[in-house]
Amino acid sequence: MKTNNKTSQSIGFVGAGNMGLPMLKNLIKQGYEVKVYDINPKITKKLEKDKIKSVNNLRGIANSNFIISILPDTNDVENVFNERTGINSYLKPGTIVIDMSTISSKSAIEIGKTLQKIQVDFLDAPVSGGVKGAQNAKLSIMVGGKKDIFKKSINILNCFGKNVIYAGKSGMGQIFKMCNQIMVGSHIQAMCEAFALCKSKGGNLNLLRETLMGGSANSWMLENLGNQVIDKNDQAGFRIDLQLKDLRLASEAAFESGVPLPGLSLVQTLYLESRAHNEGKNGNQSLFKTYDRMTNQK
Ligand code: NAD
Repeated sequence: MKTNNKTSQSIGFVGAGNMGLPMLKNLIKQGYEVKVYDINPKITKKLEKDKIKSVNNLRGIANSNFIISILPDTNDVENVFNERTGINSYLKPGTIVIDMSTISSKSAIEIGKTLQKIQVDFLDAPVSGGVKGAQNAKLSIMVGGKKDIFKKSINILNCFGKNVIYAGKSGMGQIFKMCNQIMVGSHIQAMCEAFALCKSKGGNLNLLRETLMGGSANSWMLENLGNQVIDKNDQAGFRIDLQLKDLRLASEAAFESGVPLPGLSLVQTLYLESRAHNEGKNGNQSLFKTYDRMTNQK
């Protein structure tokens, strides 16, 4: 249902990938006027087919009230939000930029400071919940930045999910997300380890999954990726490459603070092994192949 309030707020959206596309579709569903820029012309063509308004440069979305980005890595976001190669010199004062990518917290703070100089506000608002969460508008969103800007943005953020948390000052959304990813990595590693033992003894993995889901070992990973491990389905919602990037961000942040995270180091090593076997483009669940290699199982 369209409301005047919503349609008076225009949104420029950067990055229509695995997460961005379903997210921007939810904004459109809620009545927002959305214009999209993606650097990949193949994606732009797909958008046109779906009758989603797209532009072929960043300038084309700069006049919006809100700019939302969800891009792969820190340097992608830095390339978009700067004066030389990016959108900054075209933005008008009063615009709110919400970056929903998972990037370095330090970099998010710097981007926020640069934008503030041109009277543009910035929130770091990374998400958790995967492609399914993006499609069903059930993402968890961890937001850093000024509280009044968070409040002004809440209706928009609620289009992506209802669990929208104000984490604190600028950069804190990214810190919360790193904590999330430390647990995601450990949960998937724990699942792979349990499956590897069961498989080596000739146990039924489907039965094991169902059994564990009913008890205290249950996890999002077991529920959402357990079947894909069992079916040897490597299709990516969230790529090994992106998980490795997130683990790197968390370990860099931990190093800065002098916080030892031995579990994270172990998980990172296993993901590096997976990437070395050219599995970077596979889904997260492909980590099980590392266990198959270690146990010489197929
Ligand atoms: P993706 O690679 O599928 O999508 C990224 C999109 O950004 C691509 O379409 C790419 O063409 C576009 N892009 C890259 N650089 C650009 C630029 N300079 N200008 C415009 N467009 C550009 O990645 P994704 O899986 O959608 O992940 C995006 C972010 O969300 C990452 O930071 C990731 O860590 C995070 N994330 C992903 C998931 C997931 O399940 N996929 C879950 C939570 C968080």
